[in-house]
Amino acid sequence: MTAAADSKPESRPFEADVAKLLHLMVHSVYSDKDVFLRELISNAADACERLRYEAIANPALLGDDPKPRITIAIDADNRRLVVEDNGIGMSRDEMTEALGTIARSGTRAFMERIEAVKEGGEGATLIGQFGVGFYSSFMVADRVDVLSRRAGAEEAWLWTSDGKGTFSVAPAELTDAPARGTRIVLHLMEDAKDYTERLRLEGIIRSQSGHVPVPIAIIEKPGAAPAEVSDGAALWTRPRSEIKPEEYADFYRGVAGQFDEPALTIHYRAEGRQEFTVLAFVPSTRPFDLFDPDRKGRIKLYVKRVFITDEAEIVPRYLRFVRGLVDSADLPLNVSREMIQQSPILAAIKKSVTSRVLGDLEKLAESDAGKYAKFWDAFGGVLKEGIYEDFERRDALLGLTRFKTTASDDKLRSLKDYVGSLKQNQTAIYYLAGGDIARLAASPHLEGFRARGVEVLLLGDPVDSFWVTSAPSFEGKPFKSVTQGAADLALIPLVDAKPEQAADADAAVTNFIAFVKTTLGDAVENVRVSDRLTDSAVCLVASDSGPDRQLTKLLSSAGRLQSAAKPILEINPRHDFIVALAALGEDETPFKQDAAHLLFDEARILDGELPADPRGFSQRLARVAGRGLRKGEAAKPAETTP
Ligand code: ADP
Repeated sequence: MTAAADSKPESRPFEADVAKLLHLMVHSVYSDKDVFLRELISNAADACERLRYEAIANPALLGDDPKPRITIAIDADNRRLVVEDNGIGMSRDEMTEALGTIARSGTRAFMERIEAVKEGGEGATLIGQFGVGFYSSFMVADRVDVLSRRAGAEEAWLWTSDGKGTFSVAPAELTDAPARGTRIVLHLMEDAKDYTERLRLEGIIRSQSGHVPVPIAIIEKPGAAPAEVSDGAALWTRPRSEIKPEEYADFYRGVAGQFDEPALTIHYRAEGRQEFTVLAFVPSTRPFDLFDPDRKGRIKLYVKRVFITDEAEIVPRYLRFVRGLVDSADLPLNVSREMIQQSPILAAIKKSVTSRVLGDLEKLAESDAGKYAKFWDAFGGVLKEGIYEDFERRDALLGLTRFKTTASDDKLRSLKDYVGSLKQNQTAIYYLAGGDIARLAASPHLEGFRARGVEVLLLGDPVDSFWVTSAPSFEGKPFKSVTQGAADLALIPLVDAKPEQAADADAAVTNFIAFVKTTLGDAVENVRVSDRLTDSAVCLVASDSGPDRQLTKLLSSAGRLQSAAKPILEINPRHDFIVALAALGEDETPFKQDAAHLLFDEARILDGELPADPRGFSQRLARVAGRGLRKGEAAKPAETTP
C-alpha cells in the first residue's frame, strides 16, 4: 500500500553546492570518518528536541510514544547501519528542501574555504572541524535511504541517493516507515564495514555523543532488543540543587579523565544577552603534562547539548588545568572552528568563564585556606603565568597568589598579608627568586632584611622571575629583588640596633674594598660596602637596571643574553675576616689577592654557582689555609731542642 497516490517518485539533481560537498565527502581523504555518526545522532536529537518543543502547543503529536529515543541498529549481514529517531520527522517538502540543498549559512563559507585550499591537506582536516551534517553519511555509505514520517502525519516518504548528483523522493510503504520520526539506512561501503561492530559504535557514541540529551540504544542484530548506551541525561541542564556531589564527581572523571576529587565545581547558567551553561572543574591534583606547551584547555564546547569541539580555547592558557564544558544556546551548531574563534558569542563566554573561575578561586581562598593551599601547590605555578599574559586581570591574579616568605614558616602568605605588615619606611615588596626555597631562605642577601624584620617573598618557580618583572606593583608597592641594586635599607630601623652595626666602614676597610676591586678587575662591575649583610662576609647583587641575579641566570642559560651582566660584589665591613684582612700591610699583598678572589668565589657559591676558576680556587684555598696553619705553628711555644 502506498500513501498519497498522487505523488509520483521524483528524481532531482542536488543543488550545485551540495554536489560539490558530496564530491568532497566521497573523495575525502579525511581519516576520521567516525564524525558521520555524531552528525546523524545530533540531527536525530535535534528532531526529538523540536518535537518536544512543538508538543508543548500540540501534545497530541506525542501520541502514545512520548519518550524520545535514538536507536542504532546493526545489520552486519547486509552491511547496513540504521539510525532511527522518534522525533519530529520530515514532510515531503521538508525532505526535498533539507536533503537537497544547503541551508546552513556556514556551509557556503566552508565550501569556499575548501575550494581555496588544495586537494587533501588542509581541506581534509577542515571537514573534521566543520561538522559536515547529514551529507557526511556519504563518507561511509554508497547509498543512503531516509524514511521519514512527520509527527501527526499519515503519509511517509522515502528519500534515496547514491550521493552522485541526484536524489529521489517517493511515497514510502507505510508498513516500512517508522510510526513517527526518521530512519536513516546507510548501505555501508566495503571499507566502512567495521561500523557494524557493536563495540566500535559504542565507543564512538560514548566519546562523541555521550551527553546528547536523548537516550541512545544499540540493536546488535536484526530482532535483538535495544541495549542502552547513553541515558540522555545531560547533567548540566539539571538544577544544581538536584545534583549530588557523587554525580558531579563522576561527571568530572568522565570529562577530565582524572580520578581525583575536584577542588572546585563551577556550575552556572548565564541568561540575558547570551544564554549558556557552564559546568567546569578545578582538579585537586596536578596532571603530569601540565607544563606541556601543546596542552590545550580541555573545556568542551557544546551547542544545545551537542558536542562541537574541545579546542575552542574557552579559558586562557594560564587556566589550562580547568576541565568541563560550556553549552551555548546561541552558537549555530554547524559553526566551524575558525568561525568559533571569531564569534562575539564565544568571546562573551570566555570572559564569563574566566572571571567566574578566578572569582570562585578567590572565594575558596577565603573560605578554606587549607584547600586553597593545596590548589596553589598544584596549579599556582601555572596561574602565575597569567600575571604577564592577562594584563586586564593582573590585579585579580596577584590577589590569588600565595608565597612562602621569610616570615611565613610553613604557611603561605598573600600579598595582602605582606602589604599589611610593611615595616616603617618600607616602600617595596621584596623578593628573592631562585630554585629551591630552602637554599633561598639561607641566602646571605636576606640578612639585612631579617635584621630589620622586613619580610621577603621566597620565589621558587621558574616563572616567578618573569612575572615579578612584569608586574610593576601591588597596591602601589613595587616589587624589588633583594639581589639587585642598593638594598635601600638604611631608613628602616634595625630590630635590635647595635651601635657598631650602624657605623660606617672605616678607612682601612674602604681601602681594602678598593683593593678587592682592583684585584678582581673585569670579573665584577663593582665592589662596594653592603647594608644587606649582617653575618656573611660577601654576596653578589645585580645592578639597578636590567634583570636581577636569578633572571640573569635564567636568561643566559636559555641563551637569551648575549653577555650576562657582571655582578656587583658587596662586602660586609663589620665581618671579622674583612676587618682582619683590611688590617694587613703592604707586605701581605699576595695573600690579600688570594683572599679577594676567594671572597668572590664564596659569593658565587652562596648564589648556587661554581667558583669562577675551580683550579685557581683550590690553589688559592690551599695557600690561604696553609698560611693559616703556619701562623698557628708559629704561635705555638717554640719546642726546646735537645
Ligand atoms: P543541519 O543539521 O546542520 O541543519 P544537516 O545536513 O545535518 O544540517 O541536516 C539538514 C536538515 O535535514 C536538518 O536541518 C533537518 O531539517 C533535516 N534532518 C536531518 N536529519 C533529520 C532527522 N533525523 N529528523 C528530522 N529532520 C532531519
